[in-house]
Order: sequence, then structure tokens, then C-alpha cells
Amino acid sequence: MAKQTILVPDIGDYSDVPVIEVLVKVGDVIEKEQPLLVLESDKATMEVPADASGTITSITVKLGDKVSKGSVIAEIEASAGAAKPAPAVAPIAAPAPAAVSAPVAAPKAGQHSGKVDHECEVLVLGAGPGGYSAAFRSADLGMNTIIVERYATLGGVCLNVGCIPSKALLHTTSVMDEVKTMAKHGITFGAPKIEIDQLRGYKDSVIAKLTGGLAGMAKARKVKVVRGLGRFLDANHVEVELTDGTGQDLTGKKEVVHFQKAIIAAGSQPVKLPFLPEDPRIVDSTGALLLKSIPKRMLVIGGGIIGLEMATVYSTLGSRIDIAEMMDGLMAGADRDLEKVWEKFNAGRFEKIMLKTRAAKAEVKPDGIQVTFEGENAPAEPQTYDLVLVAVGRTPNGKKIDAGLAGVQVDERGFISVDKQMRTNVPNIFAIGDLVGQPMLAHKAVHEGHVAAEAAFGEKSYFDAKQIPSVAYTDPEVAWAGLTEEQCKSQGIAYEKGLFPWAASGRAIANGRDEGFTKLIFDANTHRIIGGGIVGTHAGDLIGEVCLAIEMGADAVDIGKTIHPHPTLGESVGLAAEAAHGHCTDLPPVKKK
Ligand code: FAD
Repeated sequence: MAKQTILVPDIGDYSDVPVIEVLVKVGDVIEKEQPLLVLESDKATMEVPADASGTITSITVKLGDKVSKGSVIAEIEASAGAAKPAPAVAPIAAPAPAAVSAPVAAPKAGQHSGKVDHECEVLVLGAGPGGYSAAFRSADLGMNTIIVERYATLGGVCLNVGCIPSKALLHTTSVMDEVKTMAKHGITFGAPKIEIDQLRGYKDSVIAKLTGGLAGMAKARKVKVVRGLGRFLDANHVEVELTDGTGQDLTGKKEVVHFQKAIIAAGSQPVKLPFLPEDPRIVDSTGALLLKSIPKRMLVIGGGIIGLEMATVYSTLGSRIDIAEMMDGLMAGADRDLEKVWEKFNAGRFEKIMLKTRAAKAEVKPDGIQVTFEGENAPAEPQTYDLVLVAVGRTPNGKKIDAGLAGVQVDERGFISVDKQMRTNVPNIFAIGDLVGQPMLAHKAVHEGHVAAEAAFGEKSYFDAKQIPSVAYTDPEVAWAGLTEEQCKSQGIAYEKGLFPWAASGRAIANGRDEGFTKLIFDANTHRIIGGGIVGTHAGDLIGEVCLAIEMGADAVDIGKTIHPHPTLGESVGLAAEAAHGHCTDLPPVKKK
């Protein structure tokens, strides 16, 4: 067997792309075209496949390294006759709803000729925000609709273990934080007493209210819910293994649904780090939201939005928290000036924020989980934690539903590629939500769900959003929509900006929270708004106006001449537009050039 070096092949216009996953280890026997690495640029996630088969003898790259075409990945003892030109790297998670699938061969479709228990025009697989929105829209359009969902409640990740429970807890902890600041106003409260069972009960009651509401709305629309684990049998049938209880306990019974059209909305699940042992003290976001106890010392692996939101909750509840992030900044995707305000405000909240650092090893010890770190800011000694939260991203569920038997192409990572009508390569089957690509956000899934239902009905509906907002519901909140300044720079787009510091906002000062700012980004040629970012309390609520302005193609005059109510944080959007024009009377005069 000959030694062979595996290099990063041509990855298009990308260079210095960070490695976010190494999928193989020394000693692995790999097949040609087997994915070796996952790279993540600001625009796409892509897998790097092997260009030969053989046994890996050494691996040169590690998590967090930046690679370009020609970078050495690994050495292998190649199997005979294996060397071939490197296959192209396929983007697998471009911004929605761009095609995301690697070029895979058309799957061999199945053919079901057995019994059928349910008939419908539209079957929706999965009842998250994408799925229930698609199903309700389908029913409103008059189509006989069935939802297949494995869990007892509707609402998917967002309502049960995502957006909603995290916000119920964030609301509670933000009130706790605010109360502490009242001493400055001459109002003092005693130290909070945390009844954790009651807090968990409150969070669960919020979930129950919303998921119960969905069940009622499904009933009112005559949308039938078949409870179980669905898998395709062919392009017109799904087999459902019926489930029971509060989770997805299989009952052994199976039912078959015949459908004319299907909308796949099976969502995503947290990425696992393979080196972490199984232990109840190592959890993902779902585990952290269970709020079993308040750990004394907690590690959050991953400095993205989900990790930072949970870190905010637990730190206010009393945990001492370290955050380890492989990249050189937190809250990837946000402009650095927004994130810096958050960082400054939170300087005392966490014990250590370790950038360019990764958790490399974890051992279960009687007194906690002992974690060894590697990287620029790694502590010299292993650290012991009572709870480790892994929040390093989510992976689509596309590979778990036998989509191939329906002829639907699913790429190596489980993403399903769709066109602008959310249609897969199979004309009567659509796909939406987390499993069609980034950003994995509930509001994107909902809009895609509506498009898919309308397209299935025959309407000329398209997903053509100009922007998909992102919000970190941290304290302060950080929200952005459309293009960021960093994207404008990297894409060579000439832009102008208007910035209104909240230090000049009457309402922000009255609230005692004037650390934030609102900025709007305009195309320098058309003068239309193309992006915006807000950092401060309630930024997530305020960004909606920026979203509308981008969709409507507003310019700074449209926004600045819109009378906003005073005194509100919302008027900072109008004032930022005035600032873009250079005549904001709430700011010092602009010096004449
Ligand atoms: P999901 O919500 O993942 O739902 C998929 C559903 O399909 C699930 O109910 C699942 O049980 C079901 N399913 C899967 N496979 C099968 C099968 N074979 N048979 C039957 N049923 C199946 N997004 C935001 O926009 N804002 C936020 O503030 C926010 N906060 C978040 C906080 C956390 C902690 C997490 C984890 C996520 C958060 N998200 C947030 C992301 C958001 O939850 C997801 O983007 C959204 O839920 C995706 O919706 P979906 O419909 O694609 O799929």
C-alpha cells in the first residue's frame, strides 16, 4: 500500500475557512468521497470529502484551524488504485432557501402496495413551527391535511425545548437582574430566594399553554394528527410507527398514510461532540432547559446564541460560568460593534470567556466533569464542572426519515435541497425549516411552511425574503437583519450608515440602560436600507421595523420622516435614519467637512 497525502480540494472562492468538525481519526478506514472535515465560512457550511480510500495514518488539521485549497488534511495508506482527482466540495448549508445538497445520485424510490390507514391531500411530517404553520395554511386553503408527529405535543423544538422555554427563563432572570439595579434608584429588595421546582413549573406552564393552543387550532381546522415516527415508503406513502407517553415510546403498532403531497418538516437536533462521555452532567440545550438543579460551576461549550442565552439564565440563577469558543469571537454572524457592547456590559457576569479555545477531553470524576482545554486561552490545568452544556450547533434530521424511498435527495449531512417554492427534486414533495439549511430559526421555518403549503395548493408563492433577522435574547439583546457591515465589506458593497447611540435616547436613559445603539446600513448607490443592527434592551422587538423597511425598500428619508412615538426605544430607528442624513437634532451637530 502506498502513502498518500489528502489535501483540501478546490473550494471555490473560499480561503482560510475554519474547520468546525473533524469527522475521522487516525486508524479509520475511509472510503473515497467519505466526508473528512466540515468547514464553515460566513456563507456556507461544506464537507470536504476524501479523494482516495485507505487507512488514516495521521491527521494534520484540528478543530478551529483555517484551511484553503491545498492545505494538508491527512496522510493515508492508500488502497490499491484509489488515487483519483479530488471531488468538488459541495456547500451544504448556504443561507436559506438556497440549494444546499451535495450532488448525490438520485435515490432508488420505493413502491408501496400494501394497506393504507389514512388518506390525505397534504401530509406534513413534523409539527415544529415549520410543520404546524404549513399544515394550518394547507387546511385554511381547503386541503385535507394530516400531521405526523412523534411527540405528544405539537410545536417541535421551538415551543417545547427551544425558543419558548428559553425565553420564559430569560424573562425571569432579566427581572431578577433588573431588580438588583433598583438600589441605585433608592429601592432595595432582599436577596432572591429561588424555588427551582416552581420556576421549572412556570416554564412548563408556558409551554403547555402554547402547545395546548396549537392542539386546539389543529382541531378547529380539522387537521388530523397521527402520533408516531414517520418514514417514507415511497413518493405517496409514509409509514408511522405509533408512539405513546410523553416522549416517543414505540407501541409496536404501524399505520400507513397515503398522501398526494408531502411537506417534510422534521427539523434538527443538537450536534454531539464525540469525545464527550455519557453522563447526566453533560447536557445539550434540551437538558439545560430541564433546569434540574443550579450547578455551582458550569462550562458552556460554544459561544453562539443558544450557548450565551443559557449562560445568561444560569449565571443569574447563581452558577459560575466559563464559556469556551473555538473561534475568535462570540455570537458569530453579528457585527463586532454590536457584540462588543454585549461583551462590555457582561464583563463581570462570567468567570472566563475563552476564545480560540476548545474543550479537547472530558473525564467523569466523582466531584464533576474534568475538562481539558486546548488553544490560545486554554487554562493550563484541567477544570472541573458540575454541569457542561454543549451548544455547538444543530444538525438536520433529513437522513432519518427514509426520504430516499420517496426519491428525495438528502445530502451527506442530512440537508434536503429545495427550490424557491420549497419543492424538493420530487415534484409532489416539499421541505422546510431547519432541514433545508441555515439559518436554523423558527421564523424562517414558518415562512417557508406558508410558501410550501401555498405552492402545494398551486399558488405562485415563493420564498424570496430579502432578510431573515437574527436575535440573541441575551442581556442586552443583540439583533440584526439584512446585510451586516462585515458582509458589505467582504462582498464589496458600497454602503453608508446611520448610527444613533442610546446614550442620547431619553427612554434608554430613563430606563437606566443606555449602553446600546441602533444602526442602519444603506446602499451607497440606491440609498435604500439593506441592513441594520440593534444592541440594547428589547432589541429583538425593535428589529422588526428594520425588517419591514428592508422588505419595502425604504430609504433614510422614508424612515426618518416616519413619526415615531416619543419617548421610546423604537424612535432610535428613526433617529438612526436621520443620523444617516447628517441632520439628527437629538445628536451634536455634524462637523462641516
Ligand atoms: P423543529 O422545531 O425541529 O420540529 C421538527 C419536528 O419534527 C419535531 O417536533 C420532531 O419531533 C418531528 N419529527 C422529526 N422527525 C420525525 C419523524 N420521523 N416522525 C415524526 N415526527 C418527526 N429560533 C428562533 O427563531 N428564535 C429563538 O429564540 C430560538 N431559540 C432557540 C433556543 C433553543 C434552546 C433551541 C434549541 C433552538 C432555538 N431556536 C430559535 C431554533 C428553532 O427552535 C428552530 O429553528 C425551529 O424549531 C425549527 O423548526 P422546524 O419546524 O424546522 O423543526
